[in-house]
Amino acid sequence: MAMKLHWRLQLLGATLVAAALAWAPAAHAEPARGSYLPADLSRVHLRSPGSAESHSSNIIYLNGCFGSGCDITPGDDSSIDNTSSIITSTGHLDAFTGSDEEWQAIVDCVRDTYAPFDIIITDEDPSPADHFEAIVAGSPEQIGMPMGVGGVAPYVCGETINNAITYTFSTFIGNDIAQTCWTIAQESAHAFGLDHELLCSDPMTYLNSCDPLKRFQNQDAPCGEYQARACQCNGPKQNSYAYLLEHFGAGIPTPPSVAITSPADGAQVELGFIVRVDAVDDLRVDRVELRVNHQLVGTAESEPFIFNVPELSDGRMQVEVTAFDNYDYSASASIEVVQGEPCRKSSNCASLEVCVAGRCVPGPEVEGGLGQSCTDGLQCISGDCGHSSEGSYCTETCGQGLGGCPSGFGCLDTGDRSVCWPGYKQDGGCSVASVASSANWLLALLMLALARRRR
Ligand SMILES: [Zn+2]
Repeated sequence: MAMKLHWRLQLLGATLVAAALAWAPAAHAEPARGSYLPADLSRVHLRSPGSAESHSSNIIYLNGCFGSGCDITPGDDSSIDNTSSIITSTGHLDAFTGSDEEWQAIVDCVRDTYAPFDIIITDEDPSPADHFEAIVAGSPEQIGMPMGVGGVAPYVCGETINNAITYTFSTFIGNDIAQTCWTIAQESAHAFGLDHELLCSDPMTYLNSCDPLKRFQNQDAPCGEYQARACQCNGPKQNSYAYLLEHFGAGIPTPPSVAITSPADGAQVELGFIVRVDAVDDLRVDRVELRVNHQLVGTAESEPFIFNVPELSDGRMQVEVTAFDNYDYSASASIEVVQGEPCRKSSNCASLEVCVAGRCVPGPEVEGGLGQSCTDGLQCISGDCGHSSEGSYCTETCGQGLGGCPSGFGCLDTGDRSVCWPGYKQDGGCSVASVASSANWLLALLMLALARRRR
């Protein structure tokens, strides 16, 4: 049934797109998707992103016109007075026809879509306070729009229309949750000044060839409906995510929660052991990464999150998993296990590895290994780049009862932890003048500098 309906909409839409484009390039209609109509500038209240007062509200009110429907009259765009700049005669939209469960699923979906931004989604009318209003009800002809249009919004490129009313014709869309959510997101964002994007995973798209569940993507994408074109403003590409983030600011991040369910912390493990991970997110877990001694050894993109650890040298192992949601918010969990015996010297490890505090880790001969030059932690397998006046080197954590560093390195106390540092000797014959890369390292710098002056 749903397939048949979409096919019908596509057919109607294709005809209408052609007709609309021939009539006026900036105003167009499309299948079950959001059109926008250039707003009459005398009838809207604009705020530019970045101006001192960029918008008058951060609330989108989803209005199902429950009860007797919505009566909308032509006028300035006002969600408080129920007047709309893009209609030419008074219209009546019938109430949302789906079930309570469908309505709640649509509200949740729109909330998830806008979750990265400081934008509140509600289905209770904030009037008389300012708000953006997304009407989710009725059919296009009820407010004089052409059949085949899934939604419509007033639009001024790169500008937000305060108190704008946008329309998603849910009865016409058949109350399909993903399609309705997609259209609401697109229409409401048109009123924030966003154009159509040729990026299938983004709600600003027309493209129907991928998952209908769309999220604003942090990606420069060409504008366009079915073919790339220049954006109506702001150059050749648009980044919907960056635009909304700049305009509204960030929402409260909701990273996934993640735990290693097996093995247990401190466990003795066998060669080629298995790591099992629980990861959940309010939106979606995009992937889970596994690192052993800071080296990425596996990525899982779907449940169950189970890893076969590749054959690695015996010794202590720090096992860390990091779960990312679809907005790249992340959370990590880690344990330590011992495979075989902790190494005591580098000859216990594989070639090119060195023994640090019982762990076999990539040594100075390996790119990003211990003691390699670096400018920041991303270049180091350990993720840790230490700085001194004599150079910057990849480091590994040592000490704290875990044992020492390989030859040529000393275990240097930086204040909150200790790291293997080239040429450092604990007996005071230190060749390091200063160490700094973070607040804690800066502290170490001061301590070392003071120590040197006293000598
Ligand atoms: Zn649109």
